Formats: sequence, C-alpha cells, structure tokens
Amino acid sequence: MPNQGQPGSGTQAVWAGEGKNGWWGATQVPVVHSVAFGYTDVDVWQDAALGRIPGHIYSRNTNPTVFAFEEKVRLMEGAEASTSFASGMAAISNILFTLLSPGDRIVSVKDTYGGTNKLFQEFLPRFQIKVELCDTADHEKIEAAIAKGCQVLYLETPTNPTLKVIDIARLAKAAHQVGAIVVADNTFATPINQNPLALGADLVLHSATKYLGGHADALGGIVCGSKELVARIYHYREITGAALDPMAAYLLLRGMKTLHLRIRQQNESAMRIAQFLATHPQVSHVFYPGLDSHPHHEVARRQMRGFGGMLSFMLKGGFNAVRTFLPRLRYAHLAANLGAVETIAGPPVTTSHVECTPEERAAMGIPEGLIRYSVGIEDTEDLIADLQQALP
Ligand SMILES: *Cc1c(COP(=O)(O)O)cnc(C)c1O
Repeated sequence: MPNQGQPGSGTQAVWAGEGKNGWWGATQVPVVHSVAFGYTDVDVWQDAALGRIPGHIYSRNTNPTVFAFEEKVRLMEGAEASTSFASGMAAISNILFTLLSPGDRIVSVKDTYGGTNKLFQEFLPRFQIKVELCDTADHEKIEAAIAKGCQVLYLETPTNPTLKVIDIARLAKAAHQVGAIVVADNTFATPINQNPLALGADLVLHSATKYLGGHADALGGIVCGSKELVARIYHYREITGAALDPMAAYLLLRGMKTLHLRIRQQNESAMRIAQFLATHPQVSHVFYPGLDSHPHHEVARRQMRGFGGMLSFMLKGGFNAVRTFLPRLRYAHLAANLGAVETIAGPPVTTSHVECTPEERAAMGIPEGLIRYSVGIEDTEDLIADLQQALP
C-alpha cells in the first residue's frame, strides 16, 4: 500500500535525521570529533551562539553527529524536540532534576529500572523531593496518589524485569488533571512497538544503549517531547555536562537503521519462546505481555504494536536451578545488558537490580529465582532448542 503522508517506521529508521547532502556528499553521517566550531565573522558567531541561526559552537552543547541521532529518534517518536545524553541514567537524572524542586512530589511505581529506583529512594529525598512509589499494576492506587497532587508522574512500561504493563493513556489523563508532567521510559518497547507521546505522555525517554543502538557497543540516552520542556532539560544538561559522545552517537545511528527489522524478529521470537516456556514442566511461571494469560495482556494489545523482545521466567528449582541452567545456554551472553542482537540472560540479582538489597527486591516483587531473557536476532528454532537442552 503506498504511504501517502508520514513515512513508515522502517523508512524513518533508515532515513530520518540523515540528509541526502551531507558533508562532501558522504552517504553516511560523519563522526565529527571536533569539540569546538570556528567562525570567521563575529556577528554570525554571536547569532549562532544565541541560537538565532543554526550552527554548532561547542560539543558539550550540540554536535552535528549527535544532532543526527537526536533527529532520528525525535522523528520516530513523533516529537517536536529531542536532546541526548551520555547514558540512559544521565537522561533520567537530568529530566528529574530539571523538573523537580524541593517540596515537590513525584509519583511512580515500584518496578522501575534499578538505577531509576535508586534515584527515587536515595537521591531525590536528599533534595526534599517527596517520592511515592505505588504498586505497579494497581491503577486505582496510582490514580489516588496522583490525585493528592504531584509535579511529575514517572512511568516505565513494560517494566523491568517482570514485564508488567501500565496504561499510559489512563494515567496521563489523571496526571494532567492535577497539572503534572508525564514522563515515560520507552526503552523496552522502542518506538517500533509503542509511542508514549501519542498515548498522552509529555516526555518519552530511552536508554539508547539497549534496543536503539542494538549492538551493545555504545552507551547513550535520549528524551523527546515539546520544544518548551526539552529546552529546559537541554539547558540543564548543557550546564551539568552529561553530553553524548559523537562516536557513540555514530554507533547508535548505525544501529538504528535496522531497528525495525530487529524488533520485528525479536517480537516474533519472544512470543514463540514464551509459548514454549509456558508449557515446559520445569518452568513455574513466564512473564510476557504477549501471552493471553498475562494479567495486562488487554492493555498491552491496546497500546503496543508488538509485545517486545524481553521476557522473564522462573524455574521450579529456584535459584539453585538458575545457577546450573544459565551456564548451559549456548546462545546467550550471561551479562547485565539487554536489547542487543545477541540473546542475553541473567538473574535480576546481578543485572537490572544489582543496586538493590534483597529486601528492596522483595518489596518490588522480584523473585530471587527469576531469569531475565533478552531475545536476540538468532533463528527462533535455535534459541528454543538451546533453552530445551539447558532446562533441567
Ligand atoms: C538500561 C536501562 C536504563 C539505564 O540506561 P543506561 O544507558 O544503562 O544508563 C534505564 N531504563 C531502562 C528500562 C533500562 O533498561
């Protein structure tokens, strides 16, 4: 079917942010390592420095390679503006410290990424910012917490590592009634599977380290939203300095050109692997929003175009079984990462929630015997056979 208006997400993954007439006709965005950009006319220099005309000044602020990456993600998330960071955590901390002041209140959920949870528990309270973390699936409770008044509602969906799904549209509506800004971490879903801004969020962020880059060779973070909000966050980052490196931006840009192909494959494999594990006698539970049995399957169907490449499961033998199972996997790195072309597996104890104490993990409802499995782009049959031979 011919595409009349907006190009499809695959076309955007390849072309967005990349002009046809780049430097010296280069078909690929060059890596501009230069820290500073020179001018021959002081008036033009001043106009660029004051943002009256386009032009780069200093790479902590803006850089041509970094800008191309920011544009690609911005267009894929359907946003007015975007700005990038040295890592996903740099994005999250810069967003929160831009939006929140002493005395403010933020509402979020218990199941956010481990580092984000640390910000909530350890760092924000030091600045007299009140944090209320609700049970992730309990929409009524979250709405009640929002109704008490807050400046920010912070969501992450699907969640890490138990793949809960939060209804973004429903909670964004509640947050806007009290004038709060809605922030959504879209790392797990990617813009291929979900666009939080279209569902009512004000800001969408990514750990670009994961699916956007997709090759586990570059750290990065990004936030997209309205010009006004992104300008405030950009200003904070420009001064605090967590800028994305041009070489990392180049690797992320290159990785993104195949984002739609990787996600399509990972969606499909994860679904089949989840179905396989769900019927295996040694597996006590599978967490995957694509399964009919998943408690949030209906919400996931409504707000996602695909259910993603992340799943987790529990073995009947508990942590002891996990310890023998994991090293038997032939096609999985046992590592603290996700969203790459290779399959990656590990328990949350050593990966996403390594920063948390056993008590904190228990409070977040993360079983110690859980295995997080990030499906790569290998052949589905090979991954299933690998799991089969490794399972007890
Ligand atoms: C990895 C991750 C982060 C943090 O990103 P870094 O690039 O490692 O700083 C934040 N949110 C989610 C959901 C993640 O998976």
